[in-house]
Amino acid sequence: MVFVCRRCGMCCRDLVQKDKGVLRGLTLLPGEEELFPETSVRPAVGIGRRPHERGFTIIARQLSLETCPHLGDTGCLIYSARPASCRQFPFSLREGPGGRQQMGLDLNCPALAELVEGSTDLRIRFEDRPSAERLLEVSTRARKRPKKAWFYDLESGKWMRYDNLIDEC
Ligand code: SF4
Ligand code: SF4
Repeated sequence: MVFVCRRCGMCCRDLVQKDKGVLRGLTLLPGEEELFPETSVRPAVGIGRRPHERGFTIIARQLSLETCPHLGDTGCLIYSARPASCRQFPFSLREGPGGRQQMGLDLNCPALAELVEGSTDLRIRFEDRPSAERLLEVSTRARKRPKKAWFYDLESGKWMRYDNLIDEC
């Protein structure tokens, strides 16, 4: 099966959501922050002993807006240059048991929901896997160093250490 995006724009709204007790927006990999107005970009993930100390490195940023400013009447206005988070959607990767990659599907996407409906043999070509792998690398780096990985909470404007996040699983 081949997934084809309908450019409906559904995934370009409600971008700010709570995850493990941290209010987070659309993740932006290094360089992607330049696609958005400076005032709408905040840090997202940092690695180091403490935020603001020497050696603290921001490895991802985030968009702090609910609706993306690039969403137009006909969908994404920067489609060919859109960030990795948008390219991977409605798919994602996570690290499963034994370090194996597991693929996630977000059935809130109407095009994907329709594609998989009633299917018993699910084999979908994941065309933008490299974007998902780059995003997975960010979360893997954080998970491997839980006492030195920090997530920025849009609600409080504070950094929260990874090993203090609320496990909602
Ligand atoms: S919700 Fe699905 S179909 Fe709609 S724009 Fe996003 S990826 Fe494309
Ligand atoms: S960059 Fe494009 S695809 Fe991504 S959230 Fe914004 S409008 Fe949607």
